Amino acid sequence: MLKLENINTFYGQSQALDNISIEVKDGEFVTILGANGAGKSTIMKTIMGLVKASSGTISFNGQDIASLPPWERANIGIGYVPEGRRVFPELTVEENLKMGAYSVKDSKVIATNIEKSYELFPRLKERKSQLAKTMSGGEQQMLAIARALMLSPKLLLIDEISMGLMPILVNHSLSIVKKLNSAGLTILMVEQNANKALKVAGRGYILKTGKIIMHDTSENLRNNTEVIKAYLGE
Ligand code: ATP
Repeated sequence: MLKLENINTFYGQSQALDNISIEVKDGEFVTILGANGAGKSTIMKTIMGLVKASSGTISFNGQDIASLPPWERANIGIGYVPEGRRVFPELTVEENLKMGAYSVKDSKVIATNIEKSYELFPRLKERKSQLAKTMSGGEQQMLAIARALMLSPKLLLIDEISMGLMPILVNHSLSIVKKLNSAGLTILMVEQNANKALKVAGRGYILKTGKIIMHDTSENLRNNTEVIKAYLGE
């Protein structure tokens, strides 16, 4: 479904991604693990087109998307939950969801998708008229995921769902993502919390200072003592 080949991304002179190749197949749940500053967010932004790769290819369902602007990438089925949630603070929950459906013309489709979000996250329904900025971190995370689903993506990119959340909320968010994956949504999730990510994802890549140093099934990565020492902190 998604294929990155030999991607190099720079910020000015400084290289953030070094020859990255990643593949995510239809229906998979893949995680990319790395420490602070490893380049995880840069991978997500490069896939969305928010940052331009200087070389390499990115394809989505066989289509070369490297020259598409971010909104076209969203329109062809790539959803994005950015780091730090980034909900619209001055809009209500429901207005945030409508913003997520910005390119949908049919109001019935929008209404149906909002209802689906409320089924997935009953908390959002209870708080649909509340300003997003007054929601808790966990609720904002739910809103960011629900907003990303409004365009009915085929692939969902998730940037550090665990950031700033209490462990119980991280577990809750991850269980919802797992449920979405079981229902057929393909997931690519970057995480610092390797332990939790490897429990839900099927495969993982390890990113270190812009380079992929290893990739394997989650089970093998969990059982790899070197990885556990370096990334799971155990
Ligand atoms: P974190 O977990 O802390 O968010 P990350 O793995 O997501 O880290 P990135 O945010 O992708 O890492 O950053 C990778 C490298 O690129 C870092 O060295 C960072 O300082 C640098 N970088 C990121 N954004 C910019 C930018 N806009 N301008 C210059 N350098 C940047």
